[in-house]
Amino acid sequence: MLSHEADLLNRARFRPETPVLPQAERAGVLLPLPLAGPYDYKLPPGVNAPRGTLVAAPLGNRESLGVVWGAAEGTVGDNRLKTAEPLEGLPRLPASLCDFIDWVSAYTLNPPGAILAMALRSRGAFEPEARRIAYIKGDTVPTRMSEARKRVLAVAEDGLARSVPGLAEDANVSTAVVRGLIAAGALKPTDLPEFAPFREPEPEYAAPELNGDQARAADTLRWAVAAPAFSAHLLDGVTGSGKTEVYFEAVAEALRQNKQVLILLPEIALTIQFLERFAARFGTRPAEWHSDLTQKERRRTYRAVMKGEARVVVGARSSLFLPFASLGLVIVDEEHEQAFKQQDGAIYHARDMAVVRARTENCPVILASATPSLESFVNATGGRYSHLKLKSRHGVAALPEVRIIDLRREKDSDDNAKWLSPSLRGALEQTLAASEQALLFLNRRGYAPLTLCEACGHKFTCPHCSAWLVEHRYRKRLACHQCGYEIAAPTECPACKAQGTLIACGPGVERVAEEFAHFFPSARYAIASSDILHGPAETQAAIRAFARREIDVLIGTQIIAKGHHFPQLTLVGVIDADLGGADGDLRARERTFQLLHQVSGRAGRAEKPGLVLLQTRNPADAVMQALAKSDRDGFYEQERSHRERVAAPPFGRLAAIVVSGYDAEQVREIARQLGKAAPAVKDVRVWGPTPAFYALLRGQTRERLLVQAAKGVDVQAYLRAWLKLVKIPTTVRATVDVDPISFF
Ligand SMILES: [Zn+2]
Ligand SMILES: [Zn+2]
Repeated sequence: MLSHEADLLNRARFRPETPVLPQAERAGVLLPLPLAGPYDYKLPPGVNAPRGTLVAAPLGNRESLGVVWGAAEGTVGDNRLKTAEPLEGLPRLPASLCDFIDWVSAYTLNPPGAILAMALRSRGAFEPEARRIAYIKGDTVPTRMSEARKRVLAVAEDGLARSVPGLAEDANVSTAVVRGLIAAGALKPTDLPEFAPFREPEPEYAAPELNGDQARAADTLRWAVAAPAFSAHLLDGVTGSGKTEVYFEAVAEALRQNKQVLILLPEIALTIQFLERFAARFGTRPAEWHSDLTQKERRRTYRAVMKGEARVVVGARSSLFLPFASLGLVIVDEEHEQAFKQQDGAIYHARDMAVVRARTENCPVILASATPSLESFVNATGGRYSHLKLKSRHGVAALPEVRIIDLRREKDSDDNAKWLSPSLRGALEQTLAASEQALLFLNRRGYAPLTLCEACGHKFTCPHCSAWLVEHRYRKRLACHQCGYEIAAPTECPACKAQGTLIACGPGVERVAEEFAHFFPSARYAIASSDILHGPAETQAAIRAFARREIDVLIGTQIIAKGHHFPQLTLVGVIDADLGGADGDLRARERTFQLLHQVSGRAGRAEKPGLVLLQTRNPADAVMQALAKSDRDGFYEQERSHRERVAAPPFGRLAAIVVSGYDAEQVREIARQLGKAAPAVKDVRVWGPTPAFYALLRGQTRERLLVQAAKGVDVQAYLRAWLKLVKIPTTVRATVDVDPISFF
């Protein structure tokens, strides 16, 4: 069986670079806007503009940056066409990137211009870098010399270029003195680049010693890079087995081959630590690409990628669309992460599209994970990807012991204990007594997920979403985690006006921390969740404090689940292992397993063995059993055969259409019409419409239709034909999600 990735590769038809003949004097120009396709424009006489040529294209009464995409369609008369001016002296968008954009557009059913918008920056990014003027010693000796002037010239003696204020400051004179010397020719201007150029990573800077498994995997990857041809590899190794060291060897090979490398990470929080590791191996940091960069930095990086000067780029999903001059390797780290799925705007899965990008660039792609996605696992075990397994933990004791705590059986004599069972409290006591560290994991932000009136049963919900308001006790607010709506924590019930009847239901990390502090008043603890730690820098600071042992117990959400190394961490307590397993979603079990496996992997990384305690009410559940028995592959095999039985991905195909809008009745009507219009085709079933999981989100009503198809079906063609049958008004949106990963 092939996975959808392999399947989508087979279906790929790349457009050859279409030269536009000069005599045609017209071209199809793609604009970075969600239009149906390229538009015909005239070209100035005698101009040859191949695919990828940047043009200034008139659009209404303004001008847009556009890209020559191919030959004009030629149905419109010359007199009605406007002229697109090729931008002289600017580089072209690489043809392989244009092919990739077409491909993503066809696969995700987004207009090509919407995908182009992700690949194109403002015109400034293509223009030569701005330069700044600085001054060095000139050839003329000034006729009039003062003490101040002498000091300036003495400073300039070292030959370094300085700005006017810089010189004035270094010589302790006014800027007028410096300007006088410039006018006299005693200082002369020189221009410098705005930024220092990216330093080249050195492949031989600090090559590590690899163990047997690592060396074998590294060899395979080096050969693949040297080939050079498309190939896909799953680098599959338990936490701490040294996957990064292995794929760094592939990076080193690409550098030796003078190629560029793209490394995709799921979140920028992980990037900071990664940059340091990279610098330790290659002597300098790689270029970065993510939302925290300033516009200037983005322009600089974009330009350097396009010119091939940025050799290695580490980035979030959007870095997939950078215009690499000669890409020789793509790496997706933590490839199973949901964060790779872009859910807003153009919906795409960056891991899948990374495989496609490698294919269009004819280079290898490495997917790395300790808990691969089922898709990648099936591809690797089926031989479509090379399966590079790293078995041993690097310089570490055995895998942690995982014990299940059956919450139905543990009776607690202490009324104050709600979330920490006696077994977990006992283990915490021992850990703290031994001066070791513990991590308590609960994947839920805030204090309590639901606030309820005991008197009348009123539940606090978001007025804009079908979601409960989550109490954040530290901030004294109730907040919607979907849209950000907030109110001050109320003292009376808005429904029955009773006072003091509001109770918090269920735990969030803040509430677990409160209970922990009650039982362990002298222990040092910190909460790590995305609303307490603002941004990657603060998260990193908390993690560093924990690593430096300034904190005994870290209580956090999934932001602490991965990528960190804590030598003294010997106990991991999972507060609610059942959370996330019950939402009836196709991938819920896989995700729960991946997350808990990852959290468990935090325990016992140095010489000390670790202990993981899973609090659950479903001890017989396959996920709990697989974790307790350290039987990852057994779990994957079970999950694979389950999916195969029900023809779910990767053994069948799924696509969703979400109809949304502010007019609830209209949304339901369009969804009904779509449901009725669904063409009857063999091997395709359409479910719905039904209200989406969040039937109301940010004020919009949402209805969902699900397409389930057999493997060989061209789902995109089916969707295109179907969507043509219903006229969708502009006040309603029909969003297509090919290969949905969750059903919200
Ligand atoms: Zn009430
Ligand atoms: Zn809301």
